[in-house]
Amino acid sequence: MNKIDLRSDTATKPTPGMRAAMANAEVGDDVFGEDPTINKLQERVAELFGKEAGLLVPSGTMSNQICVKAHTQPGDELLCETTCHIYTWEAGGPAVLSGVSCRTLDGDYGILDLAQLEGKIRPANDHYVRTRLVCLENTHNRGGGRVYPIEKIEAISQWAVANGLARHLDGARIWNAIIASGISGKTWASHFDTLSVCFSKGMGTPIGSMLLGSKEFVAKSKRIRKLFGGGMRQAGIIAAAAIYALDNNFHRLEEDHKNAQILVEAINATPGLKLEYPKVETNLVWFEVSDSLGGGKVAFEKLKEQGVWVSQMGPNTLRACTHLDISRDQVIHTAKVLRSLAPKPVPVSA
Ligand SMILES: *Cc1c(COP(=O)(O)O)cnc(C)c1O
Repeated sequence: MNKIDLRSDTATKPTPGMRAAMANAEVGDDVFGEDPTINKLQERVAELFGKEAGLLVPSGTMSNQICVKAHTQPGDELLCETTCHIYTWEAGGPAVLSGVSCRTLDGDYGILDLAQLEGKIRPANDHYVRTRLVCLENTHNRGGGRVYPIEKIEAISQWAVANGLARHLDGARIWNAIIASGISGKTWASHFDTLSVCFSKGMGTPIGSMLLGSKEFVAKSKRIRKLFGGGMRQAGIIAAAAIYALDNNFHRLEEDHKNAQILVEAINATPGLKLEYPKVETNLVWFEVSDSLGGGKVAFEKLKEQGVWVSQMGPNTLRACTHLDISRDQVIHTAKVLRSLAPKPVPVSA
């Protein structure tokens, strides 16, 4: 069997249909706001999430970091969960790019409860940073692709508004949250001032993310995008890929979620393998390999020998992601390979 690449849902490649859409895209200079395909995408996604405007940017990291900068001044602080992407996987962006410190709170597999945030706003006093922004992530990557319980988001959001804090959502995989929960993009987004969404996760698009917010916020962000070197020219070819993905690859995320359940079953049936968060809700399967099976590195190598590529995320931690380019047959094969990691049952002696 060919290589089965479950390392990330960023592994998806543009299909022939998507490539044709890209080749045929009408384009213009987007720094001048003259790319019709980008304008169309920005309007469509803004509408989908009930925001006034959107801004296409090269990556989810840039999108989040532009939002952090636009919401803050140097010397401010943001509140976030310890394992969130903005803090853990964006190369120290808040500190480097915005002069902002992150106050991290340990969540329950990525999920924060309002009680953890209460009391974390610094008093107005010359000694302290200024608490300015709350960032949440949905679905939560390191938390096991969990969908944020909407009532927790509502409570945190209301508290943030009451305390004058801005609210940003890292919605790199909000698509998966929408499909898994049946809750609309508009509803999720209504609890935030701004959000960031990625087209390059699981939907076949080679590049592209979008930040969304008020017209005023997006105008401010456009200037920061320029500052960060993310102003693009005839990037309508990217927008065309995203439009194609929304039309063709968004609703099929449900298949990825079903495929992930096949891996869940295999892991649950294999002694020595254990899911991190026991209820996999979307396409990310985080699991632990016990030392008795040799730990993460040994399992990683054994899987690779049989064509199954996963990510090693810690000494005992592996992650497998299902996505557009992974067929059901490949998932079934992967499930078999996972089960084969456990030692063979001892044969009854003759
Ligand atoms: C992938 C990801 C991003 C953005 O990643 P880029 O590679 O910069 O596009 C942001 N947040 C989360 C939760 C992610 O998983």
